[in-house]
Amino acid sequence: AFIERKNQVEPKIKAYVTALDDLALEEAKKRDEELTKLENIPDLFGLPIAIKDNISTKDIRTTCSSKMLENFVPVYDATVIERLKSQGYVITGKTNLDEFAMGSSTENSAFFPTRNPWDLERVPGGSSGGSAAVVAAGMAPASLGSDTGGSIRQPAAFCGVVGLKPTYGRVSRYGLVAFASSLDQIGPFGRTVEDVAMIMNVISGKDPKDSTSRSIPVPNYLESLNKDVKGLKIGLPKEFYTEDLNPQIKEIILNAVKQLEKEGMIVEEISLPYTKYAIETYYIIAPSEASSNLARFDGVRYGYRAKEYKNLEEMYSKTRDEGFGAEVKRRIMIGTYALSSGYYDAYYLKAQKVRTLIYQDYMNAFEKVDVIITPTTPDVAFKIGEKSNDPIQMYLSDIFTVSANMATVPAISIPCGFKDNLPVGMQIVGKPFDEETILQVAYRFQ
Ligand code: GLN
Repeated sequence: AFIERKNQVEPKIKAYVTALDDLALEEAKKRDEELTKLENIPDLFGLPIAIKDNISTKDIRTTCSSKMLENFVPVYDATVIERLKSQGYVITGKTNLDEFAMGSSTENSAFFPTRNPWDLERVPGGSSGGSAAVVAAGMAPASLGSDTGGSIRQPAAFCGVVGLKPTYGRVSRYGLVAFASSLDQIGPFGRTVEDVAMIMNVISGKDPKDSTSRSIPVPNYLESLNKDVKGLKIGLPKEFYTEDLNPQIKEIILNAVKQLEKEGMIVEEISLPYTKYAIETYYIIAPSEASSNLARFDGVRYGYRAKEYKNLEEMYSKTRDEGFGAEVKRRIMIGTYALSSGYYDAYYLKAQKVRTLIYQDYMNAFEKVDVIITPTTPDVAFKIGEKSNDPIQMYLSDIFTVSANMATVPAISIPCGFKDNLPVGMQIVGKPFDEETILQVAYRFQ
């Protein structure tokens, strides 16, 4: 059924870099046979799931939507893939993204842009636009994305689906092609909070292959969804609800908050004073880490290599010039500059200090409240081409999401209304490693 649906809508939406219809059918048949022999059927058994194309899949091309990795076939699975396999999931395909996950619209894919299923003239958000679009369009019930500054939550909001960025260290990053290693997290998309909770049960937990993953116990997120939310405190950060916030978006979010108040939750204004520097800080830290991580793509061991060159140096430079797109190059240049001797203290070190202040803002707020609620995005999905020539405008679409990555905290986006017939997302941010509470609150609202 999902393949049939895909055949109908995918030519218009273009969410997949690689659709794996034959493999999916073959796997599904195997599951049917295994089913009769199983005593306990795992929750995800036989469930079709789409995977963002920056997550390593053994023997399946993993491109990061970059020319650099257009023909790259990994020899190993990411840990999240191993875990999904152990549950008997069925992979539907690899989804489109902004090249190396750098962007907010999926227009930076080296192959083609993905379109928003709600309005084909609009972007699905990014960088995990393909993963959000497949779920919104009914091509798969769930998917995995990655979130460095909003790349799960912003496309979830634009496409009217649920998307969760876990706490940094909750889910193994082993096999996720690194963008900004201190911010990157893998997380699920689904139509419902239950689906997202179910996937979190499988992908969360310590992985010896990722030293930044933590051995904090993983609760059963699905079973705890029904826990009472009465008395829980919601913080509304005054810095996010200013005069500049679109009044319709504000009204939709505050109405949703009112509904949660009716469930017995208590609403309080809080302050996150340093989040006003979040975008500036993020766009020093993320490109710095990216410039270092992307140094490995030099045409030597794997990936694209320029066809003609006179010597080794020219091979490197031509390979990188031809293999990377404009946004990736922009990030490498910003990052190399910010890390270079003489500028390191002024930019990178300063940004790290501000990041700590942002982290402390969140920790201070969480002394008083259990969750923080904000809009996921300043507005609904924008038109294709509207921001692609203006990087600053594009960067500003992450204004409500990036600070959660810098503070390492978990955050979920859930659909909470419509503006101009397009979905609006509400962001619920939680304490470190307290995905459980944000899922419960999201579940109450849903
Ligand atoms: N849009 C942000 C960026 O371009 C975040 C991307 C992401 O979370 N991967 O860096």
